[in-house]
Amino acid sequence: MPKSHLTLYIIVIAVLLAGARSLPLAAGHAAGQAANHPAEVIADSQGFLRTHMTPAGPAASASATAVEKLLAQMTLKEKVGQMTQLTIETIVDGKDQDVRINPEKLHKAIAEYGVGSILNVYDQALPLEKWHEIQRTIQSEAKKTRMQIPVLYGIDSIHGTTYIEGGTLFPQPLGMAATWNPELMLRGSQISAAETRKAAIPWSFSPVLDVGRQPLWPRLYETFGEDTYLATVMGVATIRGYEGTDISSPTHVSSSLKHYIGYSYPTTGSDRSPALIPESTLREYFLPPFAAAVKAGAHTVMVNSADVNGIPGHVNSYLLTKVLRDELGFQGVAVSDWQDIERLVTAHHIAATEKEATRLAILAGIDMSMVPLDYRFSDLLLQLVQEGQVPEARINEAVRRILTLKYQLGLFSDPLRGGEANTTLGSPESRQVSLAAAQESITLLKNENHTLPLAKTAHVLVTGPDADSLIPLDNGWSYTWQGGKASAYPAKSYATTLDAIRQKIGADHVNFVPGASLYKETDITQAASAATAANVDAIVVCLGEWAYAETPGNIADLALPDAQIHLAQKMLDSGKPVILVLTEGRPRIIRPIAGSVSAILMAYNPGNEGGQAIADILFGDVNPSGKLPITYPRYPNMLFTYDHKTLEGVDSENAPLYAPQFAFGYGLSYTNFAYSDLQVTPSTASSDQKIQVAITVKNTGDRAGKEVVQLYLSEQNASIAPPLKRLKRFAKVLLQPGETRRYTFELTKEDLSFINAENKPVLEPGLFDVQIGGLKQTFAWK
Ligand code: BGC
Repeated sequence: MPKSHLTLYIIVIAVLLAGARSLPLAAGHAAGQAANHPAEVIADSQGFLRTHMTPAGPAASASATAVEKLLAQMTLKEKVGQMTQLTIETIVDGKDQDVRINPEKLHKAIAEYGVGSILNVYDQALPLEKWHEIQRTIQSEAKKTRMQIPVLYGIDSIHGTTYIEGGTLFPQPLGMAATWNPELMLRGSQISAAETRKAAIPWSFSPVLDVGRQPLWPRLYETFGEDTYLATVMGVATIRGYEGTDISSPTHVSSSLKHYIGYSYPTTGSDRSPALIPESTLREYFLPPFAAAVKAGAHTVMVNSADVNGIPGHVNSYLLTKVLRDELGFQGVAVSDWQDIERLVTAHHIAATEKEATRLAILAGIDMSMVPLDYRFSDLLLQLVQEGQVPEARINEAVRRILTLKYQLGLFSDPLRGGEANTTLGSPESRQVSLAAAQESITLLKNENHTLPLAKTAHVLVTGPDADSLIPLDNGWSYTWQGGKASAYPAKSYATTLDAIRQKIGADHVNFVPGASLYKETDITQAASAATAANVDAIVVCLGEWAYAETPGNIADLALPDAQIHLAQKMLDSGKPVILVLTEGRPRIIRPIAGSVSAILMAYNPGNEGGQAIADILFGDVNPSGKLPITYPRYPNMLFTYDHKTLEGVDSENAPLYAPQFAFGYGLSYTNFAYSDLQVTPSTASSDQKIQVAITVKNTGDRAGKEVVQLYLSEQNASIAPPLKRLKRFAKVLLQPGETRRYTFELTKEDLSFINAENKPVLEPGLFDVQIGGLKQTFAWK
């Protein structure tokens, strides 16, 4: 195909809508050529943002009159009740699948206290019928109250439908980010919204928009990785998927942007521990995903449990009111995180009493408290208003937002909306999307001598603690909060990595010896002797982590545990090609074995279809196209992001020893791509001029493959030491063997600006380098 100088937009054929097995993101068609396809979406990252950042939904004004009317009739106690969120635990007997609503407890919550919101499971995913029964009972109790205000139920649908039996689980967000495919993110979020709402649950505490720049942090897998722009694009895709253009729809839910803000960057890496983030850094790296999501119309925000610069998120009125409301224009509900008002006393020690903590948090801008286990918040807030310590106007403001949200969700006309929707949980089509996401996320980090793909006639030894369980494929927030309860998983419905390899090449071609558990060698001698068996052609070693969520996932050492490293080394002793498959929520250090193994697949936590996806890539049915959304560190004391400053960490080009194990944006394919003719015009720009960047990409191999074209920008000198480079645009494209295409991106002056020492965006004239695919061009801004 001749080199074509086609303009910017790459059209996605949304084969996902047609349920195709593998989802090409950008089919490489120019605009106008794909008229016959079911959906056309601009796949360039900025085009995607443009399309999805304009909120459409019904104007809040439609419900404003009704809200004011209601508010005028409510007692103070009823208003405070609306601001109270309790966990389901407080209204039930029994736990797990055995939960039964206790009528007296429910009565106390709804009739006596007028509780506005309930959350969570206790402790395990429930079948749809059970959810319907629970929602019906709660809402009919609310219907009996004076004001008949429906209850807002919320749940953590973090990577799909986590707490509803039979729901679709997708790769965790870090894996979704590794697809670099916002279309897949959008589709996955639509499915997750529809399935969640099918249980008559209208609120999802997702997405995590905290930028994942601290690899030790146990919630890294819930983020879209370390880059602000990638997280912004994926975040907006999630909002649009969850909320659609109207959250009263029976297939959509309200999102919750969390955890506003700075939660993901704790100094020690431990969950809910302090962060030191200068305001310019906060604005440069952590704020943009939230700002974009607000602009996209997101309806709720959840607040950071930790502190930033010594001020806990829940009392930071500057961030909660001045920045979030006045600057970003957020109009929705700000909900606290779990027990966080109480923790202002018990953990942060910034208030001596819970009453004072309540006062501080409400005045700072918290609209709803995830209390969630007792009624102290309601009692204390009532007293505070009665004593004049919190103005009723502040209460009215919060309740107005909560009632508006309930109207927008359609709960006043049908509190069980969604329950009757024509949505099938875990349908074959939804599973197909999850599979496609897993396939596009898995990142080939090493492939010496074309070890992969393996021939389907090969005999393989499979070993390692992660080989034969769904738990490391899913990680936390899967059927249970911690995700580690094997009996809660639908074992027979999904293949582990081992199952999928057996299905792919026949059980008689596969030997399995676990060799080690996470931290302990078990039958390692047996594994070593199995490795030397004459008929073993290759060894697949499945290492990594198990399941964890939040604080229980804290670690003191980023290195992969010794037992696992030792197992891999034993396998290497056999002289056979060793393929390392990593299922892990954060990049555990693999330096002792990374140089010697023949191939490495980073699978993140690829979800329930992940075993299948891994096998598809190992045996060549799918060409890998994932790219790292994080820097994979080589040393635990050399943790830096790709966009570090020259003097931070080490310039990897000059000191290769300290280079990360694998760079952000890195990932191999079974084909090769060649980049040429990088052109940047004009070479000198000013005022409102836009910069056009064009690049030619050729698939030089003999199989079709997807590539992520990544555009990085750096300013040579700036008044705040500039990062080495920043990602500014990307596009995931499909190229046939031998196919050449030209892609054009457009940069605006906003892309050239940064946050200066006065915490303001500024564009400083100077020289800028554009880098794509190893090529570099310089232009000047005057
Ligand atoms: C987490 C939130 C979550 C909430 C409700 C908290 O502990 O930090 O992310 O939404 O619990 O489960």
